[in-house]
Amino acid sequence: MSDLNVVSISNARIPADPFVARHLIDGDWRSSTDGATFERVSPSHDAVVTVACRGNLLDVDAAISAARRAFDEGRWTATTGKDRATLLLKVADLIDRDRERIAFHETIESGKPISQAMAEIEGAADIWRYAASLARTLHGESHNSLGNDFLGLVLKEPVGVVSIITPWNFPFLIVSQKLPFALAAGCTAVIKPSEMTPATTVILGELLLEAGIPAGVANIVLGFGDPVGAALTTDKRVDMVTFTGSTAVGKAIVETAAGTLKKVSLELGGKNPQVIFPDAELDAAADAVVFGVYFNAGECCNSGSRIIVHEDIAEEFVARTVALSRLVPFGDPLDPSTKVGAIITPEHNNKIDTYVQEARATGASVPLGGKVLEVPGLRGRFYEPTVVTNVTGDMPIAREEVFGPVLSVLTFKTLDEAIALVNDADYGLSAGVWSENVHTCLEFARRALAGTIWTNTWMDGFAELPFGGVKQSGQGRELGKYGLDEFLEAKTVTMRIGKNREPWVSG
Ligand code: NAD
Repeated sequence: MSDLNVVSISNARIPADPFVARHLIDGDWRSSTDGATFERVSPSHDAVVTVACRGNLLDVDAAISAARRAFDEGRWTATTGKDRATLLLKVADLIDRDRERIAFHETIESGKPISQAMAEIEGAADIWRYAASLARTLHGESHNSLGNDFLGLVLKEPVGVVSIITPWNFPFLIVSQKLPFALAAGCTAVIKPSEMTPATTVILGELLLEAGIPAGVANIVLGFGDPVGAALTTDKRVDMVTFTGSTAVGKAIVETAAGTLKKVSLELGGKNPQVIFPDAELDAAADAVVFGVYFNAGECCNSGSRIIVHEDIAEEFVARTVALSRLVPFGDPLDPSTKVGAIITPEHNNKIDTYVQEARATGASVPLGGKVLEVPGLRGRFYEPTVVTNVTGDMPIAREEVFGPVLSVLTFKTLDEAIALVNDADYGLSAGVWSENVHTCLEFARRALAGTIWTNTWMDGFAELPFGGVKQSGQGRELGKYGLDEFLEAKTVTMRIGKNREPWVSG
């Protein structure tokens, strides 16, 4: 423990009164119909930081009714792309204005470092601005190749009412990867944030109202997967569900949404490999590996938790990675110097530890970490930076999402062997390759089964570039113009413009 970089915790910055989170329904802040609430205890500080209304089926019904009415009455579809873009840009400015407040609540509810929460909020504002630019480019197609008698039009119309269900690991960023695109397309929405992190979505609701969004266009219902999330996937007045979360819940949503054949878009888990070739810039690669696995305490769909390193350099590369890992500041997420904060719940911390102990018991070695990190006064809230070697492809630690600061190291001899290891996975979210040979990088990019490939970098994201997974990492895409397409339906209009129609029946 003594050779790790631990930042001690202070409760001084936690407000005496918790944040109060209510539902946003039809433009009003409401309590639950039965008055029920729930509390969120900070993962990193011994304090209740949020008291939220606990939604029930009546609350969900009211929110869906409001979104349906707003859509059907054309409160949003009647606006122009310019109107929508103006509102989205205003929201982006308000996010910038309130970024410190948003980042603070994101940090104390999720345990992530304040510096990363700030970067997340700044990135979210950029996405709102990008979606605003798309709102003004919304267009379909015209076909004049159908002969002289016909003109074909393909209109791009909003899907309708969208349920947006989000996880706890990047609550503000993920709602910002969905809602502005839905709004740009002309959809109305009901949002359900994770029960672990409701505050920042509620703050977004405040900003939407301040920006002048019409009542009912964006609604928020707080609460748990059962009953709030589930009801948002079964109600026939909802046209589409866009979900980010675990693969298990994603599969359940596909089943419940099938009852009304809703469109479903899913951003799910990952077990993302980075392959290191001997000709790579090893200092940069080691730094990116450390970033990839410890960023957000490894509680990240894009966690680069599976390293596949060429056997000629494996020993040296692991030694560099371990040395760098010891330098990473773990601890109080409100301290600006901290790079890795708390684990979301003590139960999840135990789950992380179980993966490590199982791997150790079945032949893996643990040259660094491998146990709960002792931070004075907060036992069970943090996990040590951990490197696990001698991992084989069949171990759960190599196949499943650990969702913690734990790196698994596998080795390879040939490119074919590396690709086989990469693709021997149920997931297909992202994959990375480190080599100075462009041919190696391109061959890897073509053959690796993943929605995103990073070459000589890790986890760089841009609002312009689509993001999403293949296999059990999901379906559909967010961001880029693809992120807008998800919320649009194509409607075909076939127009007869010629007069010489051949009658079907003569008479
Ligand atoms: P989770 O699946 O437990 O919960 C996600 C959301 O679904 C929460 O709001 C939850 O209340 C709700 N929910 C739970 N049961 C439901 C049900 N039956 N019907 C409808 N909604 C329900 O996920 P989590 O623990 O909050 O987040 C972690 C997971 O999210 C990880 O697997 C991670 O990889 C994934 N994730 C993926 C991406 C991506 O873009 N691919 C991004 C972030 C997180």
